[in-house]
Amino acid sequence: MTDQPLLAAFRRAGSTDGFSSVEASFHPFKEFKAQWTRRGDEVNFLVTDYLERAPPVMLDDFAGCMFQRMRTKRRSEMYSPRMKEWMLSDDFVKLNRPLYLQRSRNLARSHAGRCYDLREGLDRLKAMGLVSTQRDPYLTWTRKPNLQRLGYTSVLMKVVAISSAMDDSRVPQFVSDYVLHHEMIHISDGLRANGTYHDTEFHRREKAYPHWREAEAWLKRLASGR
Ligand SMILES: [Zn+2]
Repeated sequence: MTDQPLLAAFRRAGSTDGFSSVEASFHPFKEFKAQWTRRGDEVNFLVTDYLERAPPVMLDDFAGCMFQRMRTKRRSEMYSPRMKEWMLSDDFVKLNRPLYLQRSRNLARSHAGRCYDLREGLDRLKAMGLVSTQRDPYLTWTRKPNLQRLGYTSVLMKVVAISSAMDDSRVPQFVSDYVLHHEMIHISDGLRANGTYHDTEFHRREKAYPHWREAEAWLKRLASGR
């Protein structure tokens, strides 16, 4: 029932593309995304349910963007300016973050770890002039001590997760601070085209952290399990 405006938006957006059938429904993906399956001149979209409470115009913009993506087969972001603005707004976070956190099972949902507090880490970065945010993101340690992925950011949900592998007295504080610094650059960059997140400029800013060399050495050590 709630899918009707979505379906209408996709049928409008695809009306000039010559499909005999366009279907679209919401799907509870953990991340904000959409998938489609295409058989001949029939196409079926599964669309992130984070759009379920979006203003109706956003459904039109999103549908238009999906058809364009399908035509050009490019993975780059092509959201409309107003859609981007909405996706990066406080409203979007308020509407969707609680559900996102529920779906993220590996989050401890606490900034205070056994040894280190991520909020204090963020304060240290601010004091060094490395971070300036209008609103702090949701900071949390992971439940499991991931070794492959030591930090993770959802730019849309404004969530930063740091691997609890670094919440350990044997690992110096600057290691998790450095990973937090990395993730905060993603937060300040916002939405970018796929594949351009870690560009030269990103690495230049990353190395503004005083202990980056020692921190990188620690991250290698952790990733190799030593
Ligand atoms: Zn990164």
